[in-house]
Amino acid sequence: MRAMVVRAADQPFQLEQREPREPGAGEIRVRVHACGVCHSDHFVKDALWPGLALPRVPGHEVAGVVDAVGPGVGHLAVGDRVGLGWHGGHDGTCPACLRGKFIHCQSGAITGITHDGGYQESMIAPAIAAARVPAGLDWAEAAPLLCAGVTTFNALRNAGARPGDLVAIQGLGGLGHLGVQYAKAMGFRVAAVSRGADKREFAEQLGAQHYVDAAAADPGAQLTELGGAQVILATAPNAPAISQLVPGLGIEGCLMIVGAPFEPLQIGAIDLISRDARVQGWSSGTAADSTEALEFALRSGVRPMIERFPLADAQRGYDRMMSGAARFRVVLDVA
Ligand SMILES: [Zn+2]
Ligand SMILES: [Zn+2]
Repeated sequence: MRAMVVRAADQPFQLEQREPREPGAGEIRVRVHACGVCHSDHFVKDALWPGLALPRVPGHEVAGVVDAVGPGVGHLAVGDRVGLGWHGGHDGTCPACLRGKFIHCQSGAITGITHDGGYQESMIAPAIAAARVPAGLDWAEAAPLLCAGVTTFNALRNAGARPGDLVAIQGLGGLGHLGVQYAKAMGFRVAAVSRGADKREFAEQLGAQHYVDAAAADPGAQLTELGGAQVILATAPNAPAISQLVPGLGIEGCLMIVGAPFEPLQIGAIDLISRDARVQGWSSGTAADSTEALEFALRSGVRPMIERFPLADAQRGYDRMMSGAARFRVVLDVA
């Protein structure tokens, strides 16, 4: 089988022929159909992840079919449609796991980082990390939902807004274009926040009822004029752009951050105190969260906009993603 491998930092992906191995205890083997290319893949490509062991096959937006099951796996069978996201497994015994917070497992595995991911035709994964991909969802459309999708879906459904509440989505990129769709489908009144009048039509196509042009006027004040946002989902990693939205929160509103800028945010304490508001982060989700993100997408019509590349062109697809010009997620067609 073919695999696109990172052998060293600053080198292009290497196409290699490998022999698929049999899954061990608790593992499954997946015939990969599609794998999304995520910005986090640069932690592997540029060997930036602490403790990363090369060579490594990246890819944590994997959609495919189980073609072998290891000993002790009872809940999955050959032929099942599965997906593998960032969360690549957990030990079940650390303090976080004992609280049920598997995503924060102290010895948690990460798909495509601590073990080989989906830039290959066949991969091995812990069975507990596998989400279900419902029939009816295209492989290439399912793949980005396993990272960008579940992240926005899970953050939105855990941020405290109720149907009818004003929810603002900051950014209209890979995460944001899914965030607007999910928020609309969840029954929120959606305000998309971006820069430039040219984005209004696109925001409305995605389902936003309001468009806040941060280039035209203070976006926090615009959100206040709309009644104040119960949730602001920050998806574009720009610290000043996120910070200036905080005064647009409503009473007990939540600034929910999923896009991580390098610089610190600057937030006025009075803006929080005067509203009993809060700032929160959200990581992504476990297998169960991903399954629900996929099923919800299938039923409600949420779909990623993607650009497709064959597996052998992983380098081109990766470069396209890194350029920031992709609309909006890059997906490798593996088989
Ligand atoms: Zn990702
Ligand atoms: Zn654990």
